[in-house]
Amino acid sequence: MQKLGKNLGSYLGETINIRAVLRDVETAAQQHGWTSEIFHASGEFKWLALHRKSEAMSKEQRARIYISAGIHGDEPAGPLAALKLLQENNWPPDAEIFFLPCLNPVGFTLNKRENADGIDLNRDYRNPQAAETRAHIAWLERQLKFDLYLCLHEDWESHGFYLYEQNPDSKISLAEKMIEAVQKVCPIDLSAIIEERAAQNGIVRPNISPQERPLWPEALWLITQKSRQGYTLEAPSDFPLNTRVAALAAAVNAALASQFL
Ligand SMILES: [Zn+2]
Repeated sequence: MQKLGKNLGSYLGETINIRAVLRDVETAAQQHGWTSEIFHASGEFKWLALHRKSEAMSKEQRARIYISAGIHGDEPAGPLAALKLLQENNWPPDAEIFFLPCLNPVGFTLNKRENADGIDLNRDYRNPQAAETRAHIAWLERQLKFDLYLCLHEDWESHGFYLYEQNPDSKISLAEKMIEAVQKVCPIDLSAIIEERAAQNGIVRPNISPQERPLWPEALWLITQKSRQGYTLEAPSDFPLNTRVAALAAAVNAALASQFL
């Protein structure tokens, strides 16, 4: 599979009608028994936190999973993958899932990474300025800890799918399992350096000291406050949109199917 060659200097591929996608997300969530909380609203949009209970009888058997998408408005595969996963409704019975399908709906109306005020929400988690980020953090602070977080993204420059792992306690990694699943549906970025960090077979394990970083993405907030293992998934947005959606969904399904959670 070849790159489309459309992304010259930024994402220039297909866009989505985020209003229609979010309507379908709500419908699918309702059909499959998710509860839905609105943690922020602005203009015509509401920010949803969807929740699916675990069927496990004991607390020990329950894995608490947090999944978010759509923090960058020029990365349409994230919300579409959220919709696909919700429609397919193929979740491990023991998993308790918190699913935030779109953290920056306004960005999608502009096909822009940032929110309406030009703030990159995914750099806003240390000293939050945007109302969306503040509301999101307030919601997160009301939750118990998660066993795993997954943040769904796209990269307009990459040569294939890749992911970042945060795993400070050296738990059993889910990275290889995700790459193995994704490579059946989408090329993997095999570059030795991705976004200025060493990479191997599409896996970046950055050595980050959050306290030294002035601007925090969502993932750094999560790893310092709420979870001790998590992944930022990056679909390559110069490939066809359905390939990228399949890649993100395959990675999520592979992580959730892991017996190590
Ligand atoms: Zn992104």
